[in-house]
Amino acid sequence: MTRAINFSAGPALLPEEVLRQAADEMLDWHGSGMGVMEMSHRGKEFIKIHAEAEADLRELMAIPANYKVLFLQGGAIAENAIVPMNMLRGHGVADYINTGEWSKKSIKEAGKYCKVNVAASSEDRAFTYIPPRDSWKLTTDAAYVHICSNETIGGLEYHWVPDTGSVPLVADMSSHIMSRPVDVARYGLIYAGAQKNIGPAGLTLVIVRDDLIGKALPITPSAFDYKQQAESDSMLNTPPTYAIYIAGLVFKWLKKQGGLAQIERHNIAKAALLYDYLDQSAFFSSPVDKADRSRMNVPFKLKDESLDGAFLKGAEERGMVQLKGHRAVGGMRASIYNAMPIEGVRQLVQYMKEFEARRA
Ligand SMILES: *Cc1c(COP(=O)(O)O)cnc(C)c1O
Repeated sequence: MTRAINFSAGPALLPEEVLRQAADEMLDWHGSGMGVMEMSHRGKEFIKIHAEAEADLRELMAIPANYKVLFLQGGAIAENAIVPMNMLRGHGVADYINTGEWSKKSIKEAGKYCKVNVAASSEDRAFTYIPPRDSWKLTTDAAYVHICSNETIGGLEYHWVPDTGSVPLVADMSSHIMSRPVDVARYGLIYAGAQKNIGPAGLTLVIVRDDLIGKALPITPSAFDYKQQAESDSMLNTPPTYAIYIAGLVFKWLKKQGGLAQIERHNIAKAALLYDYLDQSAFFSSPVDKADRSRMNVPFKLKDESLDGAFLKGAEERGMVQLKGHRAVGGMRASIYNAMPIEGVRQLVQYMKEFEARRA
């Protein structure tokens, strides 16, 4: 068996240890005589898996006690609707910061439920920077301020937490959650689809301050009402049990790596390897402003676009897959999530050097 060096933006690679353990436990979880997929979500075995996953997540992210952790379904795109349904709380307007493709989707969807004020945007420069906080035109009585804290497609990341005063900050953290420590108390709500840094698609994580829930719009489906889900331990409907189990294994793996501060050091080193090379190269370049570059998703361009195909083909021959950039941006994109070992990034940079030497 040969494992690919997988730069997919999502669903993305998982730690090999986690996959091996899941394989070992596939037919019989801890002597229960059942695989996790086959268990009742209300049985003692799964209750334990669920509780441990939540406890480990709370420990890793240092989630304060007044925050609820929900394991839901629907992905971050469903949250684009579920967030306003739950978070408007009688307000008529929500502020959104537009930093790229994922922000645009959030803005469009929220517009079905409320008035959306786009308080700042970096569309003027093709989403290559995060608008500085002092340029934001926030509404005083907004229900919340929404950001996409890591734009997976454009490769932008907030390396600071915006101050929004008493207005709750809501963040789509899908593609960098658990890649670094975050001060959860600075946010009213954090959401993330699991398939980038946490586990299989199908699981959506919501972390929400408890005073903000309980005022969902009457039309809100019960399965998407944070309050109802919080009261039933995310088991109002059958939760995505297998995805929660894998996420739980990933959390244990993260603890073994030394937690989020340690994983952040590792991620800084990986990203630096790639960006340092891009910055000194005359052939490859990064389109994103230095201060706002993502450590997780690194878009880059070849000086001569007509060589894109040859670059991708050569990469595949070396076992490096999913490097093609999103069609909205073009060029290449290397997603280097938590589970990507630094050796994978080294091999990519080595290949880029060789390609540049041959083709530039
Ligand atoms: C991947 C991604 C999404 C989409 O998630 P779905 O699971 O497809 O709903 C939304 N936002 C960001 C930032 C993402 O990276």
